[in-house]
Amino acid sequence: MTRTGVYPGTFDPITLGHMDIIRRGAHLVDRLVIGVTTNPSKSPMFSIDERMAMVRREVKDCGDGKIKVVSFDSLLMDFAEREGAAMILRGLRAVADFEYEYQMAGMNQQLNDRIETVFLMADVSLQPIASRLVKEIAVYGGDIHKFVTPAVAAEVKQRVEETGRKGS
Ligand code: ADP
Repeated sequence: MTRTGVYPGTFDPITLGHMDIIRRGAHLVDRLVIGVTTNPSKSPMFSIDERMAMVRREVKDCGDGKIKVVSFDSLLMDFAEREGAAMILRGLRAVADFEYEYQMAGMNQQLNDRIETVFLMADVSLQPIASRLVKEIAVYGGDIHKFVTPAVAAEVKQRVEETGRKGS
């Protein structure tokens, strides 16, 4: 039996925190499907194609070929069911994520009781990282190299330059 896990997220952009969760998650399953949500309600900095390309590039050397990156814009549980997933992986950062994640896991359990939500903790040093703050720091000209890979940092910097930096 192949055990499949789905790790859904916006990945706008993918951070070292996400990548740590992906590495940890890949140890738990035979097949890990990273689901990049289109999520237009979050007005992402990067388009769905840009985010998919970034995630694909950043994970290409992890997981021994067991990782697949796809986009989805359906209900998470329908997507997970289509992928034949036994579990949904989510990262949990301190208390800030808890309420939202708790509610989402509870409602997803009501929608489909056969797929478990499993919470993973990133390395302590990576826990404070959030895509939203990475973008905010970059917009004000701060250094984001501790939070994302050099390639992602360059892409964020370029996008900020295209759209106009604040405070300069
Ligand atoms: P979403 O819009 O679904 O929250 P994100 O890309 O922001 O998408 O996050 C995807 C998942 O990764 C979420 O479960 C989030 O809690 C988790 N995550 C993001 N950053 C970190 C981090 N630094 N440590 C642990 N988990 C994280």
